[in-house]
Amino acid sequence: MTPNILSGNIRERPFAKRRAAADLFMPEAVMMQIAAHADLGLEEGKEVMGLLLGRIYADDDGEYAVVEEAVTSKLESDRVMVRFDREDMGALVDAIDNMSPDTDIVGWYHSHLGYGCFMSETDVKTQDGLFGGACGFALVVDPKIKEIAVFDSSPGSPGVAQMVILEEE
Ligand SMILES: [Zn+2]
Repeated sequence: MTPNILSGNIRERPFAKRRAAADLFMPEAVMMQIAAHADLGLEEGKEVMGLLLGRIYADDDGEYAVVEEAVTSKLESDRVMVRFDREDMGALVDAIDNMSPDTDIVGWYHSHLGYGCFMSETDVKTQDGLFGGACGFALVVDPKIKEIAVFDSSPGSPGVAQMVILEEE
């Protein structure tokens, strides 16, 4: 279950020229946090997931997202599926409640255990449900074969998106 709270939440994007030709900008520390979460899941034989909070900007080439933090909650998962535990979404609700008004859910991440990074039918449904074609990204990480891929929110058939890791300044 993913909170379908984005419809109607589309507003004008602040204009800011992106620093590189990419769609998603990810702080190194957040990427490490996601990788560690995926590694922990791998040890337990479970997929993991979480949401990416940040900001969406626009420039002459369109919209792009800058991640600020990754948040997760209690999960129901096994080797081939993962979802938020709907009985216990407190951590997620708190994170969303505490979001500043400038912050959006800009994406979500989840792991695949050894079968590579792609968008399954369920993943595409989740992506469409979360973003409905508005700017948003799915990050898929496979901690077993050490692969990461990012997909855009093209409805029904997410395309591969480019991610840039931002080193700490
Ligand atoms: Zn998946």
